[in-house]
Amino acid sequence: MKYISTRSKITPISSAKAILQGLAADGGLFVPEKIPKVSLEEIGELPKKSYEEISAWLLGKFLTDYTPDELGECAELAYNWFDVSARIPVAILIHDPEKKSPPVGNMELWHGPTAAFKDVALQMLPHLMRIALKKVGETKKILILVATSGDTGKAALAGFADVPQTKIMVFYPEDGVSKIQKLQMITQTGENVNVTAVRGNFDDAQTGVKKIFSDKKIRGDLNKLGVKLSSANSINWGRLVPQIAYYFAGYAEFIKSNQIKLGEKIIISVPTGNFGNILAAYYAYKMGLPVKKLICASNVNNVLTEFFATGVYNRNRKFFKTITPSMDILISSNLERLLFHESGGDFRQINRYMTELNNLGKYKIDKKLKDRLDKIFYAEYVTEDETKLFIKRVYDSFKYLLDTHSAVSIAALSKYRGKTKDFTPVLSASTASPYKFTSAVLSALEKNIDGVDDLAQINLLNDFTGLRIPKNLANLSTAKILHEDVCDKNEMAERVLKFAEK
Ligand SMILES: *Cc1c(COP(=O)(O)O)cnc(C)c1O
Repeated sequence: MKYISTRSKITPISSAKAILQGLAADGGLFVPEKIPKVSLEEIGELPKKSYEEISAWLLGKFLTDYTPDELGECAELAYNWFDVSARIPVAILIHDPEKKSPPVGNMELWHGPTAAFKDVALQMLPHLMRIALKKVGETKKILILVATSGDTGKAALAGFADVPQTKIMVFYPEDGVSKIQKLQMITQTGENVNVTAVRGNFDDAQTGVKKIFSDKKIRGDLNKLGVKLSSANSINWGRLVPQIAYYFAGYAEFIKSNQIKLGEKIIISVPTGNFGNILAAYYAYKMGLPVKKLICASNVNNVLTEFFATGVYNRNRKFFKTITPSMDILISSNLERLLFHESGGDFRQINRYMTELNNLGKYKIDKKLKDRLDKIFYAEYVTEDETKLFIKRVYDSFKYLLDTHSAVSIAALSKYRGKTKDFTPVLSASTASPYKFTSAVLSALEKNIDGVDDLAQINLLNDFTGLRIPKNLANLSTAKILHEDVCDKNEMAERVLKFAEK
């Protein structure tokens, strides 16, 4: 299996190279030349496998330059931290033994070290990179540089900590992250990690990192130190491919718990930001997972809802800060991969759309492509009030607590069912523990949080619901602070060089 670019004709490259390179030289994203197929018989074998086995099996379909042993090792190392044996359990919200109402399964993707779904990919990516370095004969260390507004930084730190031949450095805005997010980062252990606060906002941190990436002098200096820069952002193929596995695992869970029969179609609903998670569901569908519809759930930053309804992608709009911050995105980068596949690999057309997006902030897809998307996608958005309403409603009905992002998915699904009367079984992607968004969750449950700080809110939520606090969040108040560095934005490059020397 080789990888090509969404924007021009390039010589196909191996998956190891695509993962190390991240982005194609033409600015396009790497995609597999062909989407591999799996048979129903193969899917029928999955209920017998562990999550690690399903993950290694799935990776083997796409990363054909890795050996089965290497992929098995990656899966073991990636998921041994996950604090439940199922790794990614599916909580059945609507459970009706007489099967009169079809099940809604909430696929809990957040049992990893940072209690959010990005762990599923970011626990795996460092190992895929480490093995890729060996495969291409690279002896330099790679230094992952991240600017974060909160969650991605911690998930990347947790993933790369102590992985051989890698280093990771995270910059965050000194006053631009929550108290919990800051504590999570500055208590990160590991010989190869560095966390530095930047005096400024997130844009300052991000601009600083981008400058370092494009600075030839710094790259040269790093080169002399035996270090190469790389990034771990969500368009890297090595972050996308581990996510495809859990849709198969979720389907297998449904079979195991007798909710569906092998071959029966399901609906998948996904709370969407950068379009990575739902794109993974699309790949699963294209590979042969029996899927009837993919529901793209958004918050009031509903650029995708409008796109699927009209065929026009228009980022020129007001930006809202919401209680689902991980979905506050106006450019959903991974959509480019979907358009590439559904246009039959028409890279010229994709290049045109992306140029228009860059120059005008919008593009319109042609009717043929739009009709194809309509066959499989349904898009819906929900307001802040609706999100909170569903947290309360699901908690009151099932004693099951959703975080805000997961509630957006369930609320969008409810709208879909209301409009279409389609009661096909559903797997809904649950992307964060409710303990990550305590203030919004507590206020949805009508609890008073005036004057209660972030850490105390965790205990308040625990007192009220009795729900177990994720291990790493429970330890936060006593964890040792290891990173206290602060710098100005024009000192970032210097800090990178200093850390590279270490
Ligand atoms: C990143 C994130 C999302 C959005 O996922 P995409 O792959 O960017 O669409 C949703 N929920 C949470 C909690 C996230 O961290």
